[in-house]
Formats: sequence, C-alpha cells, structure tokens
Amino acid sequence: MELPQVESLPGMPESITIYEVGARDGLQNEKAVVPTDVKAEFIRRLIDAGLQTVELTSFVPPSWIPQLADATDLMSSLGDIGKGATRPVLVPNERGLDNALAAGVGAVAVFGSATETFARKNLNRSVDESLQMFAPVVSRAKEAGLWVRGYVSMCFGDPWEGPVPIEQVVDVCRRLMDLGCDQLSLGDTIGVGTPGHVTALLKALNDKGVGTDRIGVHFHDTYGQALSNTVTALGHGVRVVDASTGGLGGCPYAKSATGNLATEDLVWTCRGLGIETGVDLDKLVETSVWMAGKLGRPSPSRVVKALAD
Ligand code: MG
Repeated sequence: MELPQVESLPGMPESITIYEVGARDGLQNEKAVVPTDVKAEFIRRLIDAGLQTVELTSFVPPSWIPQLADATDLMSSLGDIGKGATRPVLVPNERGLDNALAAGVGAVAVFGSATETFARKNLNRSVDESLQMFAPVVSRAKEAGLWVRGYVSMCFGDPWEGPVPIEQVVDVCRRLMDLGCDQLSLGDTIGVGTPGHVTALLKALNDKGVGTDRIGVHFHDTYGQALSNTVTALGHGVRVVDASTGGLGGCPYAKSATGNLATEDLVWTCRGLGIETGVDLDKLVETSVWMAGKLGRPSPSRVVKALAD
C-alpha cells in the first residue's frame, strides 16, 4: 500500500485520538437503513482497525431517526465491546439517558447548537431550553460515573442564519462545560469554516477558560476545508479529532453529498506528519469498501478511492 513520506511540522503532537463517528453520525445521515448485525460488524471492524474511541449509536425516539431505531438491540449484540468510557452514545434527554443506562453504556453525548434556528429544527427548543433539558442528563450521567461529551453544532456558520458570532459560540460552549461535560466537540456542520476562523474560535474559548485539552473538533469536508482546519486545530493544541470512516454521512443541511471528514483522509495526513493514531489504514480502507458494498454507493473519501483495489 502506498503511504506518504513522513516529515513532521513544528507544533504538531506526537499522537492524537480519533473520535470515530461513522456508526452514529455517518449512518444517521445515510438514506439506507443498515441492519443491526451489519452495524455490529462495522463497529467490530473499526475497533479491530485500531480506532480507540468509537461512538456507537443514538438513543433517540425511533420516529426521529429511523436509521438508529435499533440502539438497544445494537448494544446487546455488541456485548462487552460496546461498554466503557470510549464507546459513547448520543442521548437527547433524560428518557434517552434512562434507555442508555439500561443498556449498560459507559459514556454519553448531548447534542447542542450554537444557533437558535438549528436548536429549534433539531430539538424543537430554544438554545436556553435545550441547555435546561441537558442539565439533568449531564448531572445524572456524571453521578452514574459516565464520561460525557457536549456537541455544539453550527459553530462556524448556519445555513439559515449565516455567519455565527464567535462570542455566541463561546457562550454555548461555556454553558455546556459548566453543566459538567468532560469534553466539547466543535461542529462545523455545513463545512464553511477556514483556518483563521478555527484559530479565532479556539483562542476565544481559551480566553473563557475552555482550553484545547477539553476540545474535540468536528469538521465537515463540504468545501474541502476539513483537513486544513484540522491541522490548524492540532497546531493550537487540540488532540481529539472527529472523523467518519469512509466519509459516511453526507450533511443533510448542505447541498453537497460530502459531509464528515473521512477517517482515512485524516489518518493519511497524520501518517505524513508522523502523528500516531493507532489506526491500521489498510484495515480501515477494507472496512470502508465493505460498507460501501452494503450501502450500494462508493465512499467519497479520496484516500479510500486511491488505495482501494
Ligand atoms: Mg458530522
């Protein structure tokens, strides 16, 4: 398999944690509903390829996201590999948390928004109301000993509201951290961010006491900016990067089919920079080709395209 020549760059870390979202964010945004046994096989393959943190599914009412209606069945089919602090599931509210706890999860994530319009469209609540809804979810999850992540979507732009003021994003991030989240994920949901914008947001967050050691970045490749934004964030101390194997999950709010940063594209960049990810790229590409066969469409990842036989 072809691999990049390794040349490091000043300011880059020795290693990063890839937060794999393909099984949740990826499959949630695919048209096809994937059978539970295929999801379980996908997750086993991701773990076998060396991915440390793998988000599994979402405990939402089935009518919200039919693609992930089998969350409880998936958890029981995964058994022990679905447990622990590195296997988060999304929970929108206390009911979701109850179901997730009953399924034995070890980590949860809540999904907030930096903008009012998306909060209304996604959760049918204002930003304030959604944070009120998350408060008991986070506190009860912490009491139960779970690791908790707070997603913030629309951090770099909103398809209905346009530009999103940095102070507005920082305010939502700060409030989620104050609820007790262990980590934030800054989402560029429509992929419009660029490196200067990334730098400005990370600096503004740091000024408000949210350091890069508590931050993950979630870039979308809609406009081809995900990797340059990622390298910029790594240069500022971010060590957790969200990515989706094979680039699964186009963004439903952007015209382009290209959504999540493909894990393979991220691993290629890290290989070239000498940054350890723990991932076996060969196995991951095989997994994407296998999953593309199940979905009936090719992976949008350039690295998968280049390396697949
Ligand atoms: Mg995403």
